[in-house]
Amino acid sequence: MKTILPGQTIGIIGGGQLGRMMGLAAKEAGFRIAVLDPTMDSPCGQIADIRIVAPYNDETALEELGEVSDVITYEFENIDYDGLKRLSEIAYVPQGAELVRITQNRATEKSEIKASGAPVANYVTAETFDELKGKINTAGFPCIVKTTFGGYDGKGQVKLDSPKDIHEAESLFEHSSCIAEAFIPFTKEISVIIQRNPDGESYCLPIAENIHKDHILHESIVPARVGPEVIAQAEAAAKQIADHLELVGTLAVEMFVLENDEIIINELAPRPHNSGHYSIEACNVSQFHQHIRAVCGWPLRKPKLWAPSIMVNVLGEHVAPLKKVIVNYPDWSVHLYGKAEAKEKRKMGHVTIMTDDIEKTLQDIDSTSIWA
Ligand code: ATP
Ligand code: MG
Repeated sequence: MKTILPGQTIGIIGGGQLGRMMGLAAKEAGFRIAVLDPTMDSPCGQIADIRIVAPYNDETALEELGEVSDVITYEFENIDYDGLKRLSEIAYVPQGAELVRITQNRATEKSEIKASGAPVANYVTAETFDELKGKINTAGFPCIVKTTFGGYDGKGQVKLDSPKDIHEAESLFEHSSCIAEAFIPFTKEISVIIQRNPDGESYCLPIAENIHKDHILHESIVPARVGPEVIAQAEAAAKQIADHLELVGTLAVEMFVLENDEIIINELAPRPHNSGHYSIEACNVSQFHQHIRAVCGWPLRKPKLWAPSIMVNVLGEHVAPLKKVIVNYPDWSVHLYGKAEAKEKRKMGHVTIMTDDIEKTLQDIDSTSIWA
C-alpha cells in the first residue's frame, strides 16, 4: 500500500462541496490540495492550494493535475472515463477508473450489484423506446424508467403506473438509453457509506435514514430508525458490493427497506455522499477524513457515533431564512459551501444537529419554517 503523507499534494477532480469538505479534512493534517474545476471560485477552489481551471475532461488539464499531485481522487462520478483512465497511467489514482465506468451507467451499475449477490429490483434495459415497449412487462407496473446516464436528484426519471402511461417515458430516450425497474413500495430509504483502503480494510459509517422532498435529499437521521436485522443486512450488502468492486475510497450504497425488513439496493455513488455529512461532527472519523485515509493508503479508523444526529440540507431558497435565525441556534453546526448564487433547489449547505431526542429535534426543525 503506497502511503501519501502531509506535505504532499492531493489532486481532486471536481470543485463542488464534496471536494471542498474532502480538501478541508486533508488540509487539517497538512496535505496540499490541487483542484480541477471549470470555475475559478468553486467551493473547493476557494480552499485549494492549486487551481486548474478547465473542463473536467480537458486532457491537458488532467495531465497538469497529474503533474502537480502525488495522488488523485474525484468528488463526482460523471467524469470522463477515458480521461480518468489515461490519467491513471501517468499519475497515482488508487481508486482506478473502473468504478466510475460502472457507476456512471445505471445498467452496468445494476448488473454489478446483482453480480455481487446483493438484491436489486427487477429491471430491464432498453436502447430505444420501441425496445422498452417490448420489454416493459418484465419490470411490471408500477415501474420507474430512468435514463442510464446523467440522472441526479430524480431528474431523468418517470414513474409509470400502467401500460397506458408508457408514452410518458418516450422523451427520456432523447438523453440516453434507459432502464425500467419495478417500483418498490419501501417503508424507509437508508444509505450505507462504506470506505475501503488498498489493503482491503473496510468500515461502514453508522447507517443514515434519508427523507427526500421533491426527489432531493432533505434530512438524514442517524442512526436510521430500523432494527438490528436491517442494519446487519445493509452492512453485509454494502461489504459484498465493495469487495466485489474491489473498492478503494468511498462508496455510498442507497437502499430501500421493505415492510418485511428486507432490503433492496437502489443505487451507488462512488464518492462521499450527502447523507454522510453528519459524520463531520457526530463521528470520531468523518466520511471525508476516512476517504483521505483510504486514498492516501493509511489504515482506517473504526467509526463511532458520538450522538444521534439529524442533518438537514440547505437549498437555495433556505439560505435567507436560515441566516435570519442562525445565531439563535447554538447547537446547530451550519455549513455553507461558498456558492455565489443561491439558486432555488441548489445545494448551498447543510446543518447538523446532535441530539438525544430525534423526534423532538425533527419537530424543532419543522417549527422554524425555514424548510416549510
Ligand atoms: P440522487 O442522485 O439524488 O440520489 P437519482 O436521480 O440518481 O437521485 P435515484 O436515487 O435512483 O435517482 O431515485 C431518486 C428517488 O426516487 C429515490 O431516492 C426514491 O425515493 C425514488 N425511487 C427511485 N427508484 C425507485 C424505485 N424503484 N421504487 C420506488 N422509488 C424509487
Ligand atoms: Mg439516489
